[in-house]
Amino acid sequence: MVVEVYPDNDVSAYSGAPRPAWARLLADVRAGTVDAIVGWHVDRLTRSPRELEDVIDLADKYGVELATVTGDVDLSTPTGRLVARMLGAAARHEAEHKAERQKRQRRQAAEAGRVAGGGHRPFGYEADRVTIVPEEAEIIRECVRRVLAMESLASIVRDLTQRGITTTAGNSFKVTSLRQLLCRARISGRREHTPRSNWETTRPIIGDIVADAVWPGIITADESDRVRAILTDPDRQTRQPGQRMNSYLLTGLLVCHCGARLVGRPRSGVPRYVCSNAPGYDSCGKTATNTARTDDHVRDLVIVALDSPEFIERLRSRQALGSEASDAVKDDELQLEALAQQWARKEITRREWMAARVVVEQRLERNRAAAARESRRHVLRGFVGTLQEMYQRWERMNVSQRRAVLSATLHSITVNPADPRKRWDPDRFVPEWIA
Ligand SMILES: [Zn+2]
Repeated sequence: MVVEVYPDNDVSAYSGAPRPAWARLLADVRAGTVDAIVGWHVDRLTRSPRELEDVIDLADKYGVELATVTGDVDLSTPTGRLVARMLGAAARHEAEHKAERQKRQRRQAAEAGRVAGGGHRPFGYEADRVTIVPEEAEIIRECVRRVLAMESLASIVRDLTQRGITTTAGNSFKVTSLRQLLCRARISGRREHTPRSNWETTRPIIGDIVADAVWPGIITADESDRVRAILTDPDRQTRQPGQRMNSYLLTGLLVCHCGARLVGRPRSGVPRYVCSNAPGYDSCGKTATNTARTDDHVRDLVIVALDSPEFIERLRSRQALGSEASDAVKDDELQLEALAQQWARKEITRREWMAARVVVEQRLERNRAAAARESRRHVLRGFVGTLQEMYQRWERMNVSQRRAVLSATLHSITVNPADPRKRWDPDRFVPEWIA
């Protein structure tokens, strides 16, 4: 005769959640008010080997019989216990297998639309490609902040390497791998489609953003857009030509009166900017200026300029123009997405899709370059302040960050011939301001 029903319908033994009725049943067995347990199946009664062993102990101690609808299990004999344990183990295996299968399905869903093949897990995410790894996410955010402050990738890579931070494959970061990581739409929680055209041997670093993904972002979509614009700007390479040149702050900005760009070159161990007289160049080869004094002078010129409200106002009006570029980038990206959807719905052929893409992509390229120039000016927001603040900030900046401030302010500085009567002639430097 059934005296009491102990329902634990909603609580799986695997969830680890407490099963109140189960606890009550065991208590009643110990109290001697139960002499038989009837269950649907052994695995519905006890789903962990530990629970089964509890029941076997109780059966021993209190002589409780266990009956199941699918067949009795006699816990009083070794064979009966073996059967019970095997049934329990099989049920447990099935449950674990099911959990594993669900995890795999979730991962496949997350990866749907992902084009790049397997390999290592993406930096910032666990192997399930969904769960964020907090320490790595913090490094990504730091790198993004530094790129937005116009620090060079080479400078960031050197720092990461010194700190022993590696890729998920365990290699040191290189400029290329860091650029790839920071350009990935994935880190902003967006899905990217990078179709490879017939004539391209490698996938483009930037794809079209096709949808919000199911994984969480580490940075915002806006940050991602700006970083992508900066890191794919074709101007960037020539402006920041490697780390050795970077130690000369003004390389690329100083222009000789003869029209040639000055290069950094020490004489007797003293760094100087010189007009190169290398054979095959049209440069005069006669202009030279001391690096330290010139750097300080240009710093003073720029900080004094940024202290002027009129100059800031002119820069600001240029920025208003710039934000249109960033809107245009978004429009182009939306249009590419719309085209892809039209193709997916078979409203246009693949050939039509590709033809339309070329037009939009060329415009997108130009707009991204314009947006990058705008981003370059973002750097000034964190720099401009009182004269004293600007000098303090300058002291704390590395070469790459200082260059960012300079190139957000100046197009170039022309260096005229030195007055031979003066040891130091500040008037020979003629800045061409951006605004
Ligand atoms: Zn020259």
